[in-house]
Amino acid sequence: MLVIGAGVSGLTTAIIAAEAGLSVRVIAADQPQQTTSAVAGAMIGPVLYPPDDRRHGWGEATIRELTGSRAVPGVTIPRGRLVARPADFLPPFADHLPGFQLCAPEDLPDGFGTGFWADIPHVDMPVYLDYLVHRLGTTGVAVEIGRLDSLASAARLARAIVNCAGLGARELAADAEVRPVRGPRVVVENPGLDTFFIEAPLGEEWISYHPFGDHVVLGGRAIDGNENLTPDPSEADAILAACAEVEPRLAGARILEHRVGLRPGRPDVRLEAEDVDGRRCVHNYGHGGEGVLFSWGCAADAVSLLSA
Ligand SMILES: Cc1cc2nc3c(=O)[nH]c(=O)nc-3n(C[C@H](O)[C@H](O)[C@H](O)COP(=O)(O)OP(=O)(O)OC[C@H]3O[C@@H](n4cnc5c(N)ncnc54)[C@H](O)[C@@H]3O)c2cc1C
Repeated sequence: MLVIGAGVSGLTTAIIAAEAGLSVRVIAADQPQQTTSAVAGAMIGPVLYPPDDRRHGWGEATIRELTGSRAVPGVTIPRGRLVARPADFLPPFADHLPGFQLCAPEDLPDGFGTGFWADIPHVDMPVYLDYLVHRLGTTGVAVEIGRLDSLASAARLARAIVNCAGLGARELAADAEVRPVRGPRVVVENPGLDTFFIEAPLGEEWISYHPFGDHVVLGGRAIDGNENLTPDPSEADAILAACAEVEPRLAGARILEHRVGLRPGRPDVRLEAEDVDGRRCVHNYGHGGEGVLFSWGCAADAVSLLSA
């Protein structure tokens, strides 16, 4: 089988298939560290979907895989605050989250009316992607760099395909429902933070910071339809200033990294099989801002669909 893409979706799909004994090839236009996946925050959770929603299952599958008995490089489970500006804005199922505790009034920064603490897994994506590449490599599979111009050309290379092209699926699968949702990754030196903070609901702009040992990943922006990959220094300054209003220790923190990623936005994740020139093609793309969270669940479903 051929997996197209080596972001978190492609690598995870390839690992599940290869570890199940399938013969796997991975072709990707970009190295894993150059993908949108490398730019993600990344929080895995909170999973606040109803239990019968398929996204609930995907998220829980990833959390189980990454927080089970085996330590996974890049994965931590920090405690942090999830806050909203309106009062009484507690989302459904929040009280099911591990470590749930309502914020005391002194835990709410000025301007915020609701908040709670929870323990939410986080992934340091550059470290984690290296781990995925290494884990795939132990099955004898290496990522080949190359751009496929159509699913038909992919179908000439293997008996089955899994399309994990992220935003690239817009052209590859001629899917006009896929849209870029721009977001910068701003990383600063950690001035001593050990809890995360995120404002909800996520609109175009929000305040968030996520400590990972010696560095902190700051959020957030999600600009629908914008595909400008050039980092804007004034945007990084504005993000840092907004975070410093909530956490004064961040004021003036040294910026270590500033990149931009394009989330593969779509009204719904595309996870289904179709026939391409007599070959089975499973699509696994369009995960928007939750592709890391959904990765292990979607990958398992994609591999099942290869033979369903
Ligand atoms: C700022 C930011 C913060 C985020 N935070 C989070 C978070 O906290 N939690 C979370 O779960 N998600 C988060 N996300 C979303 C997450 O990054 C994406 O949903 C996820 O990375 C999508 O992964 P993917 O593997 O499907 O796509 P990508 O990572 O984009 O990988 C696509 C792959 O397909 C390849 N490709 C594309 N077209 C072709 C082609 N024609 N031929 C060959 N190869 C091709 C590319 O080269 C690449 O290898 C965030 C995103 C951003 C930008």
